[in-house]
Amino acid sequence: MRISYEIRDRLMRKSSNTLGLCFQCGSCTATCPLSVTSSAYIRKIIKYAQYGVIPEDEKIIEILWRCTTCGMCVSSCPRGVDIPSIIRGFREILSERRTQDHRITETLWRLYEAGNPWGYGSGEIKKFRLNMKDLFEEKTSQKPDYIIYSCCSTAIDPVSQKMTRSIATLLKRLGFNIKILDPMCCGDVIYEAGEIAFLEEYAQKIFDIINRLDSTLITVSPHTHYMLKRVYPELGVKTNVEIIHYTQILKELIDKNKIKLRSSDRETVVTYHDPCYLARYLNIVEEPRSVIENIPGVKFVEMEHSRENTLCCGAGGGRIFSEETGVRLARYRLKEADDTGANMMTTACQFCVRMFVDEMKIFSSKYINNITDLSELILSRLE
Ligand code: SF4
Ligand code: SF4
Repeated sequence: MRISYEIRDRLMRKSSNTLGLCFQCGSCTATCPLSVTSSAYIRKIIKYAQYGVIPEDEKIIEILWRCTTCGMCVSSCPRGVDIPSIIRGFREILSERRTQDHRITETLWRLYEAGNPWGYGSGEIKKFRLNMKDLFEEKTSQKPDYIIYSCCSTAIDPVSQKMTRSIATLLKRLGFNIKILDPMCCGDVIYEAGEIAFLEEYAQKIFDIINRLDSTLITVSPHTHYMLKRVYPELGVKTNVEIIHYTQILKELIDKNKIKLRSSDRETVVTYHDPCYLARYLNIVEEPRSVIENIPGVKFVEMEHSRENTLCCGAGGGRIFSEETGVRLARYRLKEADDTGANMMTTACQFCVRMFVDEMKIFSSKYINNITDLSELILSRLE
């Protein structure tokens, strides 16, 4: 074990100088969702950081890579320590020493070689264009009102594709001229892997495309939104293009009376899962609730953990690319949703929907019989 002031100072900077505030109370470990399935060691990790020591214990290194960067620990920390940034800082150091988690390395290689972290080829992009062809005229000279930036998973994941299709269909039915970008990785996995040099290079690639746009850009994924609005500007890569999350545009159009919604014959009790990045990192919590509450005949119920206190689905921090062993975090969230008595669970993130839809296959729910993205719910209720 070697104490390094250099490492400590580096992690201190990563944490925006909050590292020194930790007084080792352990609330972070107690509230971390990883504690549900194993020992989380978060307090210990912060202690290592305060000493500038790189952990060598395999169990602690495993936690550094299993952290979903959900931010729950920050909400519970009485001293406001930016724990996920310290964990990303450790990942950065481990990556520099080539002791990165092998699943992350493989994901980054796929991104490097295929241009996306899933490893699909150009054939999937062509299929995606064909699937979406009915929604926009590629050759029109008319400037689009909105351009949709969908997650890179949209090319191959039907759940993701359905979300983009719902948002696009909705806007088209309201008379807007839209364009859908080819699915493009936002770089979230590079950021979570701590590969900052690669991220800086990648940022240029994305912003070269974005800066050529002259319409409002609608993001589908909360992770994309966070990268474009917060992470890249902090790296000095900025744009003048307006960027808005799709839940914000839904609220805006409902408020302006452009979206008119109808009720359904069946009683619908809806609960909403706040995606961690949308709620804790971006503070977008009122918009989705306002959208749901405007649907006639829908009863909205909150889960025990909601808004900034939401529970993680297990996909963040690059974990969507790794298999979770044992009971998955999505199980606990589904149980909480079911306990509300709601028959529908909705959310606003392609990864959350994917995690819950998968878990639902082996979860015996009492009430929940439908998991859907908010855009699909609104489209199904459009007048
Ligand atoms: S909750 Fe905050 S103060 Fe308490 S141990 Fe964790 S980081 Fe330190
Ligand atoms: S960000 Fe989430 S998973 Fe990571 S240490 Fe904090 S509470 Fe645990």
